[in-house]
Amino acid sequence: MVAMREIVQSRKLQGVRYDVRGPILVEAQRLEAEGHKILKLNIGNTAPFGFEAPEAIVADMVRHLPEAQGYSDSRGIYSARTAVAQYYQSRGLTDVVVDDVFIGNGVSELISMVLTAFVDDGNEVLVPAPDYPLWTGAVTLAGGTPVHYRCDEENGWDPDLADVEAKITPNTHALVVINPNNPTGAVYSEATVRGLVDIARRHQLVLMADEIYEKIIFDDAVHHHVATFAGDDVLCLTFSGLSKAYRACGYRAGWVMVSGPKHMAADFLEGLTLLANMRMCANVPGQHAIQTALGGYQSIHELVVPGGRFYEQTQLAADLLNKIDGVSCVTPRGALYCFPRLDPAVHRIHDDQRFVIDLLRAKKLLVTHGTGFNWFAPDHFRLVCLPDEDVLTEAIGRIGEFLETYSQD
Ligand code: PLP
Repeated sequence: MVAMREIVQSRKLQGVRYDVRGPILVEAQRLEAEGHKILKLNIGNTAPFGFEAPEAIVADMVRHLPEAQGYSDSRGIYSARTAVAQYYQSRGLTDVVVDDVFIGNGVSELISMVLTAFVDDGNEVLVPAPDYPLWTGAVTLAGGTPVHYRCDEENGWDPDLADVEAKITPNTHALVVINPNNPTGAVYSEATVRGLVDIARRHQLVLMADEIYEKIIFDDAVHHHVATFAGDDVLCLTFSGLSKAYRACGYRAGWVMVSGPKHMAADFLEGLTLLANMRMCANVPGQHAIQTALGGYQSIHELVVPGGRFYEQTQLAADLLNKIDGVSCVTPRGALYCFPRLDPAVHRIHDDQRFVIDLLRAKKLLVTHGTGFNWFAPDHFRLVCLPDEDVLTEAIGRIGEFLETYSQD
């Protein structure tokens, strides 16, 4: 009998990483299998922390289950696509029509599909650092080259526009903007958004705006849609969905909306439609939640104002982190995370994934290392702020204790 040869992963996956669920999670699962209770603060999954999706959208999905058995139009059910188009119309994007909307299995699927349809070998795509790492991974998987532009911690994690500009080459095809930002919690001012759009306009770049946290903003922060300023001369793809603002990560309901000079993008859109067709359609029950979510009462507001859990927990987490010696954290203005800095002069950390694994083993607490978000140095980590205040206080206390003696020297 001929022995089977070893089966290895494709070369396409070389250099593709998604550390949020990578080796750190494998180690956490190993410890769980040994009987340890691990507090997992590595993923922005709302349901396990007691956040429930609005009743109306759950009811709508349940009511539609019997008629959601078949495949839908590969771009999505009509009611969901219309609701998304109307949502952006109501936000001032009056040109958006139902055919500009594609529904997907979460924003994640659409990011991969859009980049597959758009990127050719060697094309460069500007991605923020730090980023939500799916962007870097999906550009790489599509055969492109992610080029990271710096977001400036000293300036509230705003994108450094000069750095964006400096990284543009004749091969640059697109500019990714994540606003509000995961992992930093930054919400960009109108001037910053306009600045990014202006760069895209001058260099003929396609804008890819990941706005999945658009409704999770605190204090006086205002969210500005990139598409609003892109007008009719810059092609813009806006991504959002139900996972975060509607606490329905598991429904896998997201969308991408195309705006700007669509007539110049007919071929690309044909490619995107081909990919949509090839995977038949997004989860149909989840699609039924979209119209009700966008049209109904926006209960997210209760969570993001003072007294609301998202607001109170992110602010508390940042305050507590800032009290730890050698740790500083820009207070989040939106989203669900803190991205604190470990001062290298105080904390001797050369390998931040090792730091996360050592913390996990010692304190049974899982966070994600900053380089997993394509941050340039091993001096940050991301903490998910979803647990209630008592649990967060306990968790950050454990981090403080751990750091008192930890050193990789
Ligand atoms: N974009 C950002 C910035 C995210 O943080 C996430 C999930 O955490 C996603 C996209 C993916 O969301 P979805 O659940 O819609 O796939």
